[in-house]
Amino acid sequence: MFLLGRLSLKSWLKSILSLIFGKGRNQRSVPVKMNALCMRCGCAEAFPINTSVKPDFDLKIIPPDLRDAFSDHADAICSNCGLYQAYKRFSGPQIAMINGIGKDALTTDEIYHSYPVPEEFINDWFGDSVERQRRRWGSLFHELGVTPKRILVLRHWFGRQFPMLVEEFGAEVFGVDISPICNRYVAEHYPFVRQLAGTINGELSGPFLSGEPFDIVIVQHILVHSVDVPKALAAIRHMLRNGGVVVLSAETKRAPSNPFHTFYPSEYQTVSMLSEVFDEVYKLDEQGIIRDIPIYGYSGRATEFAAVVKPAAS
Ligand SMILES: [Zn+2]
Repeated sequence: MFLLGRLSLKSWLKSILSLIFGKGRNQRSVPVKMNALCMRCGCAEAFPINTSVKPDFDLKIIPPDLRDAFSDHADAICSNCGLYQAYKRFSGPQIAMINGIGKDALTTDEIYHSYPVPEEFINDWFGDSVERQRRRWGSLFHELGVTPKRILVLRHWFGRQFPMLVEEFGAEVFGVDISPICNRYVAEHYPFVRQLAGTINGELSGPFLSGEPFDIVIVQHILVHSVDVPKALAAIRHMLRNGGVVVLSAETKRAPSNPFHTFYPSEYQTVSMLSEVFDEVYKLDEQGIIRDIPIYGYSGRATEFAAVVKPAAS
C-alpha cells in the first residue's frame, strides 16, 4: 500500500482490472534479498520500488555468481530518512571482480571497444559543456576566493576539461578513470595530466586518496555508482585542503534501471547529505551559484552542486 504514491494512473488501472477480472496477479514484486541497510541512516526498513534492471552488456561475459547481482536489484525508499537507493549493493569482493573485468567490457557501447576513438564522437559528446563549465566554475572559484592550483578530476572520460582547467586556472591537473580506453586517450592527447592509481567505480580506494591535498576535486558520475555515498563523501573531503571545493558534476541522473546505479537522491537529499560532510553547500545552474537553497520549491534546474571545506580559523 505504501507504493501507491509512486504508481501511475495506468498501472493503477491495470492493478484494479487484474483484481476484478482475476487475470493473473500484479507482477510487482517486493524485494526480499536486501543485503544492505540504508546507506545514509542505517535503517533496515524501506518501502520497496519495483525496478526492472537492464544491463547494457551480455551477462554471459561475467561469472555466474556475479550475474544475479546485476540482474536482480532491490530498490527502495528508506522509511526513516527517505533516501531512494539500491538495497542489494555490490560487496567489496564483487566490486574488485567488476573492476578486474573493467568498465569498457561491461557496455555494448562500441566506443569503448576499439582504439582510436573517433574525434567527432568525442566532440559531439562534450559539445559546449566545457565552455559552460569554464564560465560556471570560474565564477564559483572567483566568488569563493579559491585559487585552484591542484585539481583532481574523478571520472574524466575523454578529458576535454583538462586543457580548459590548465588554460583558465593555470592548475596542475590530475585524474582517475575507470575506462582503460579513456585513460589511454588522455595519456596520448593530454600528457600533462597526471593519472593517479586507484578505483572509483563502486567505491573509492587506492593511493590517490592519501596524497598531497587538492584545492578542487571534480566528481563526475561517481556517487550514483557508489555502494556507500557517505563514506565516499568523507573520503573526498579528506582529499581537500582547508578551503578546498568539491564540484559534483553529472551526479544528478537518477537511473535505477542501470545495474551500476545505487543512489537516486532528490536534490534536497543531495544537498542535505553534502551538508552532513561539508561546511557550505551550493547549487550551480546556468544562472550561477545558488547560495540560499530552499527546502521546498526546487526548480529542478540544478546542473551541479559544489561543497566547501571551511578554511581553518587564522
Ligand atoms: Zn535512511
